[in-house]
Amino acid sequence: MFDGLSTKLERVFKNLRGYGKLSEKNIEDSLKEVRLSLLEADVNYLIVKEFIETVKNKAIGEKVTDSLTPSQQMIKIIRDEIASLLGNHEPLNIKAKPPVIIMLTGLQGSGKTTTAGKLALYLHRMKRRVYLIPADVYRPAAILQLKKIGSSINIPVYETHEENGVITQTPENIVQNAIDIAEKQAYDTLIIDTAGRLEIDEPLMNELKLLKNKFNPNETIFVADSMLGQSAVTVAKTFNEALGITGVILTKVDGDSRGGAALSIKKTINKPIKFIGVGEKLSDFEVFYGDRIADRILGMGDVLSLIDKAQEAIDEKDAKSIEDSLAKGDFTVKDFAEQLKMMSKIGGIAQIAAMIPGFSKIKDKFNPESAEKEIAKIKAIINSMTEKERINPDILNGNRRKRIASGSGTTVNDVNIFINKFEEVKKMMKSFKKNKLGSLKNVNNIKNIFNKGDFKWR
Ligand code: GDP
Repeated sequence: MFDGLSTKLERVFKNLRGYGKLSEKNIEDSLKEVRLSLLEADVNYLIVKEFIETVKNKAIGEKVTDSLTPSQQMIKIIRDEIASLLGNHEPLNIKAKPPVIIMLTGLQGSGKTTTAGKLALYLHRMKRRVYLIPADVYRPAAILQLKKIGSSINIPVYETHEENGVITQTPENIVQNAIDIAEKQAYDTLIIDTAGRLEIDEPLMNELKLLKNKFNPNETIFVADSMLGQSAVTVAKTFNEALGITGVILTKVDGDSRGGAALSIKKTINKPIKFIGVGEKLSDFEVFYGDRIADRILGMGDVLSLIDKAQEAIDEKDAKSIEDSLAKGDFTVKDFAEQLKMMSKIGGIAQIAAMIPGFSKIKDKFNPESAEKEIAKIKAIINSMTEKERINPDILNGNRRKRIASGSGTTVNDVNIFINKFEEVKKMMKSFKKNKLGSLKNVNNIKNIFNKGDFKWR
């Protein structure tokens, strides 16, 4: 995430940590570097100017506390200011009387339709009864795309009326119709995917204004493509002035976007970023917390979001069965396979690794692609084992190993390496007593430990 900015700021922090005492010159030099990093990340220059002044005043004015060295204190000030630029977490306004209406707006290609699906899945997991409404009457392909997305996650999509491939309804008519159906079918959350254009134009704005005035949505969200940097912020400003948006969803944060949009949007339009899109899959979607993203940008990891992702992805039953095996001390290859499955549900290796504190220090030596390949190999080996072998790998003699190697397209050496590794993991697992780790149900205790810790920025 925001790799360029991240690498540069990490370098500034490394230098800061190296200073014994912080002189005014050290502070000036570090701030010059921070300023450049932010400008290169395409953050608005007025915002950068104010940022640097605030950090400088705080760094010079602040009393040195006992628990922090001056460098640590400076790092903390920068981290906190970045978090404040990104903005606090603000939940979706969905507590109102149903049906709650969420209107998604934005330019074509910003990821609006994909985001409609992501948001629907997120709300569905929160036990909401979601109904998707395609209101882009100019692009039947967009309607088709939303239908496809809806059916892939089992979420109903309003059926627009059409003749010979032409939509015969107005957007207003579609939404009104959908609301009537929602009331009958007890759908409590409506997500409207509105039309987008390649650039802002008046007819588009008038159409959106009409929808907004008539249906008074609980949330009017601007979907912003973070790859567009500051120009995404300019477009957001226009949408906000015309419509009065309630929040932003920033998409494509996984790409090589520079961070300028994320760091400028809140300050420019004074509306919160509510979610971020971090990939093309519908599950690549995260609730936005400015402080956690600040930690990720600064290479400090983000254990809290990792735990959230794990909680969302992990089936309680699977987790319980692994916990029980652990408690009994009979961790098997089957459990290991389950763990691998859970891990891939949480995200790719690179995504998970970036959330682990301290990982940034070794990231140059780590190749997520080759790690993914290793895991694919292990999965193939496990798939070629019989149920009996998975429960008791001790029975794996030479012949069995040869069979597994040829079944999985690997070598006997690969199988041997895997079995040895598995035995190591098993030993390690035995040493984790169930109560020491804490049950997955007590995940909030783990969160509290990380929440309290001020170890992050040291
Ligand atoms: P729309 O025209 O605004 O409805 O945009 P789409 O939803 O069709 O998305 C445009 C393209 O962006 C598609 O190829 C999506 O897969 C891709 N996309 C959307 N959100 C994300 C994201 O968060 N990350 C990445 N990498 N791609 C995204």
